[in-house]
Amino acid sequence: MFTRALSRLSVGFYPQLLRILATCGTTVSRAGRIVRAVSENGKLGIVDKGWNDLQTEADRAAQRCIVASLSKSFPNVTIIGEEETDPNEDIKPDWVETSLDENILKHVSNFPEEWKDVKDEDIVIWVDPLDGTAEYTQGLLDHVTVLIGIAVKGKAVAGVIHQPYYNYKAGPGATLGRTIWGMVGLGAFGYTQKQPPKGKNIITTTRSHSNKVVTDSVDACEPTEVIRVGGAGHKVLLLIEGEVHAYVFASPGCKKWDTCAPEAILTAIGGKLTDIHGSKLQYHKEVQHKNTAGVLATFSVDHQWYLDKIPQSAKDALKP
Ligand code: AMP
Ligand code: MG
Ligand code: MG
Repeated sequence: MFTRALSRLSVGFYPQLLRILATCGTTVSRAGRIVRAVSENGKLGIVDKGWNDLQTEADRAAQRCIVASLSKSFPNVTIIGEEETDPNEDIKPDWVETSLDENILKHVSNFPEEWKDVKDEDIVIWVDPLDGTAEYTQGLLDHVTVLIGIAVKGKAVAGVIHQPYYNYKAGPGATLGRTIWGMVGLGAFGYTQKQPPKGKNIITTTRSHSNKVVTDSVDACEPTEVIRVGGAGHKVLLLIEGEVHAYVFASPGCKKWDTCAPEAILTAIGGKLTDIHGSKLQYHKEVQHKNTAGVLATFSVDHQWYLDKIPQSAKDALKP
């Protein structure tokens, strides 16, 4: 009793944005366990939401878990998730995860002044319960991430990227999963930051949503190697871990829930994520969900160099 009362009291001392981020930290791991459980069970329940836009039972269940958890703790904050699921349908009691991640809370002493008095009505939480669904259905499990991004007044400021299958090639008994998190002004944690190899120009792009504009734009950036993998979350992890120099995607296919958490984490360490014209993406609640002018993300290289290389024909085709 005493411990509970004390921890409830101490929660009051944390800024709201840190409480939200710390709840995202525990909730995203719970969603990751659901994603693994669905694939172990084998009943993926695949639905095609459009042309080459898949949804599985893992997408649906992970979103229910995240939305139920965050809306219980933060009823006045807007939450926008990728999937159209009934938030009250089929919620299992152990899917509601409202505890706070201690590893995130312990950064309270360095919490940025700028975010101390953020109001609930200025916050939008963008949820991609499973990024890389096409790859998930094909067994390319290391491409899969769960993304929760937090925007304040339309800017991506904090987020978590959870990789439920991290370590899965290490064999039986290995601990699966990791969470990378960050906040602008505080930094990013949960991974080892590396610089990409010098003398090369490695570009990552989509493997399952390509077209001529996408490939022409990648080619125009003069890559020494192209890494085609699934998921916006996974590709930004390749960037911050020094596997690639740039993520180039000249297509309107990515949505705000794909980019909010990756952009916040990338920005927190000095990287950039913009559209292919170099404009910042917006994340307020009325914004259109599609990133109609594509995505260009870089870390530790000259962002403008890539912007200048994107062909004018792609820029003409992809308007904000
Ligand atoms: P990818 O790099 O193909 O894995 O795409 C990154 C994210 O954007 C994933 O969530 C995809 O589902 C989404 N996406 C990209 N292109 C399209 C598209 N043409 N149609 C639907 N979703 C897309
Ligand atoms: Mg996605
Ligand atoms: Mg998704």
